[in-house]
Amino acid sequence: MYRTHSNGELRLENLGEQVILAGWVQKIRDKGFMIWVDLRDRYGITQLIFDEERTSKTIIDQAKSLGREFVIQIKGEVIERVSKNKNIPTGEVEILVKELEILNKSAVPPFTIEDETDGGDELRMKYRYLDIRRNPVKNNLIFRHKVAMEVRKYLSDEGFIEVETPVLIKSTPEGARDFVVPSRMNEGQFYALPQSPQTFKQLLMVGGMDKYFQIVKCFRDEDLRADRQPEFTQIDCEMAFVKQEDIINAFEGLTKHLLKEVKGVTIDKFPRMSYNEAMKRYGNDKPDIRFGMEFGELNEVAKHKDFSVFNNAELVVGIAIPNGNTYSRKEIDKLIEWVKRPQVGALGMVYVRCNDDGTFKSSVDKFFDQNDLSNWAKATNAKPGDLICVLSGVTNKVRAQLSALRMEMAERLGLRNPEEFAPLWVTDFPLLEWDEETERYHAMHHPFTSPKIEDIELLDSDPGKVRANAYDLVLNGNEIGGGSIRIHDKKMQALMFKHLGFTPEKAAEQFGFLMNAFEYGAPPHGGIAFGLDRLVAILGGQETIRDFIAFPKNNKGRDVMIDAPSAIDEEQLKELNLKINL
Ligand code: ASP
Repeated sequence: MYRTHSNGELRLENLGEQVILAGWVQKIRDKGFMIWVDLRDRYGITQLIFDEERTSKTIIDQAKSLGREFVIQIKGEVIERVSKNKNIPTGEVEILVKELEILNKSAVPPFTIEDETDGGDELRMKYRYLDIRRNPVKNNLIFRHKVAMEVRKYLSDEGFIEVETPVLIKSTPEGARDFVVPSRMNEGQFYALPQSPQTFKQLLMVGGMDKYFQIVKCFRDEDLRADRQPEFTQIDCEMAFVKQEDIINAFEGLTKHLLKEVKGVTIDKFPRMSYNEAMKRYGNDKPDIRFGMEFGELNEVAKHKDFSVFNNAELVVGIAIPNGNTYSRKEIDKLIEWVKRPQVGALGMVYVRCNDDGTFKSSVDKFFDQNDLSNWAKATNAKPGDLICVLSGVTNKVRAQLSALRMEMAERLGLRNPEEFAPLWVTDFPLLEWDEETERYHAMHHPFTSPKIEDIELLDSDPGKVRANAYDLVLNGNEIGGGSIRIHDKKMQALMFKHLGFTPEKAAEQFGFLMNAFEYGAPPHGGIAFGLDRLVAILGGQETIRDFIAFPKNNKGRDVMIDAPSAIDEEQLKELNLKINL
């Protein structure tokens, strides 16, 4: 037996017991005649004591040779500690060591294995296996496990079946580039790694599985904006014979269950908002509704004077920053600089100070009088003491810019409390989205999403206005899940591909398998997928998904620990009939 107990287990009631423990040396305190060693494993820390009077000389000498992170096994007796440590569960006892075996030595670790470490990000990633020994990382992985288990438990109890789908497949269009894998046996041909199991889960519905889920890896070759991973995990789900309402209810249930089980938070009913309303009120399709600062549109009360900036703008819109009137001129100038940074991209910002006496002082006093400004205050719900920030320009750009400012101000004002949970369903997304680069419409969700029946006639005349049966679940300003009711009819699917610019031949080549399946009695179906990494991070009160992934990649998509990606042998290339052309 390697160990009789873990290092998180022993208490006063174990006094006098002979135990065997194993683990890593966390800390050594050598007082000459007495040595204490903190022994660590996943379960905790137990203090060992070596003492000249009670421990043999050979063992004391052995103890003196220990270093940090050595792996040892000890035999000894549980005794009561003289000075107790109330901060750890085992803090009332220690082990008087009688035998010690060094199972493995350790080089000096490149950073300290403590909750607060001196290791920088890159170093911690290179030695991730050491990083995982640290409580914050270890606890995050345990937390992730707990969430995943609760997901499986809940969905299984609700009748969902977990089915695995293949990883070597053909492209699934989820709006990103595919990772591809060359096939040796099929010369010159490639598999794509799934951006999601989308088409497979739909085929499982045609196959009569009725309720499917899978905790599954997905792969998207995108430029890695902050906090994205090229491979990530989804809780992927699909149901047959459902309407949007059924899906929303089922997965509101799952989310409530998780909030309750892992956070002890009970939320009654999740609010809902249409995409258009979210854009109008928050400039964002995943609004953080833990705080206010809602948008006030000002076109009607700001476009009647000689101020050409506003008169030429499609949208004039503002937010009221609580107590913002305390800002000095310099601080406001800095804020203006902030919105003008290329990442935000505003051309300028108009502001209005809301004085405590009910008067207003603005940066455009030349054009607007007190009455105008009081109308702005009404529209933005500004109170005396607030600062109104106003942006103007092309609608979708201005909304994105003001939304960035709203989030930034909430962050600065401490309004984004990670222990508060504000879920929100956003519904009625547009079916199509104009892409400036390719100058054509793309599916906003994916090409299998069904349009709202009542909007179908707009497909030809005003495609951008067609709404989809698509919904997102937002939590604290992050999209944690998204899905749709699917097209289950071959003709409709073909029409959709046509509007997305596929020729019938191209559509048949890429998605013939799905359209064929639709000829064999495809049931109405729909589903959703949650981003497990993000969900876990938010439930864990953090926003960085890397902290909840055992072996994450850096923002260049590299695993710096195993050094991937890397070149392959000439031999391997030959076998695959590939040539590198750099
Ligand atoms: N496959 C979709 C995605 O990855 C989710 C869904 O529509 O169910 O976003």
